[in-house]
Amino acid sequence: MGFIDDELQEVSKLCQNVVDGSRLVSCVRTMVRVEITKTKFKTIIACIQFPEDYPRTPLLIELKSKTLSVKLLDGLTEVCEKECKKLLGKAQVLPTLKFIRNFIDENPLICCYDEISAVKEILVNNDELKLKQKHSCISLKVHQGLYYFKAKVEVPDNYPVACVKVEDADTNFPPLFTRHLLGQGRELARRCVEPPLKKKPQQPFTPSPSLKTVTSFLIKSIKTLPQEHCQSCRQTCLPANPENAETNETADMHVERLYCGHLFHLHCLVTFMKTPPFHGGKKCPACGQRIYHDKWGVSDKLAEERWAHQQARARELAEVEDFFN
Ligand SMILES: [Zn+2]
Ligand SMILES: [Zn+2]
Repeated sequence: MGFIDDELQEVSKLCQNVVDGSRLVSCVRTMVRVEITKTKFKTIIACIQFPEDYPRTPLLIELKSKTLSVKLLDGLTEVCEKECKKLLGKAQVLPTLKFIRNFIDENPLICCYDEISAVKEILVNNDELKLKQKHSCISLKVHQGLYYFKAKVEVPDNYPVACVKVEDADTNFPPLFTRHLLGQGRELARRCVEPPLKKKPQQPFTPSPSLKTVTSFLIKSIKTLPQEHCQSCRQTCLPANPENAETNETADMHVERLYCGHLFHLHCLVTFMKTPPFHGGKKCPACGQRIYHDKWGVSDKLAEERWAHQQARARELAEVEDFFN
């Protein structure tokens, strides 16, 4: 028997034992085909062919996957070929398969390769995105002026069935903004993997990847928040220096965020809420959405009465002033 036949025999005997999660689909001279599975989304099919003067030349390898990025597979194919070149004159199939399995184990972030590339594209200057393969997370640091936001985005093993988690936030945005960034980020992640409550039964829900959704939301918000205006006085809400941000949530210049996302200084919002028209409820001047806020659970009628009362008081005061002038 020739070298290749001996190797084929060894592969069919040992493959499933020495390469975790492997399934031998075919093992003949023309093609060795092995499916290596870690999770449903981390599955690679290796198609291996023997070149003419094998084993003095490296194996011909083609990698396929239904879920992993083509670019990633191209890169991995190249690395596998290099590995084979180190083994010229020897059996290369099993070491290559073991190498692929090892690569899947040591690089849990392979399942979001394309998403990570897309997120890197929207980062600028000194923003950072670092891959921590060992901990299956990315570390994100985004700057805007003197503001920064840093967090860890964890990618669970069964991603994208389970969503990413945003952890360990470190930032100099005021607490209200940090709460918003984290709360909204987590909510967006949840929606990627949980069906909406009002689900139409005809449409089965499939979880979608959440990494890019969450990180691009964070990046976009961090870049725009420091420049956003108060919808009433049109001044920039956050001071250029984060140290000067108002953290007392009852102070006049404290920045409030409406449910629609638009910003107001507290005193500007109070004035706006107390000024007519009240009919149909107060609406955000920027987007026209009804203003809901925990601090103003006031009915149209009550607002109208309060305003009328204040106007009457103002008239009285004006009359009193007139009297003395
Ligand atoms: Zn204002
Ligand atoms: Zn609005």
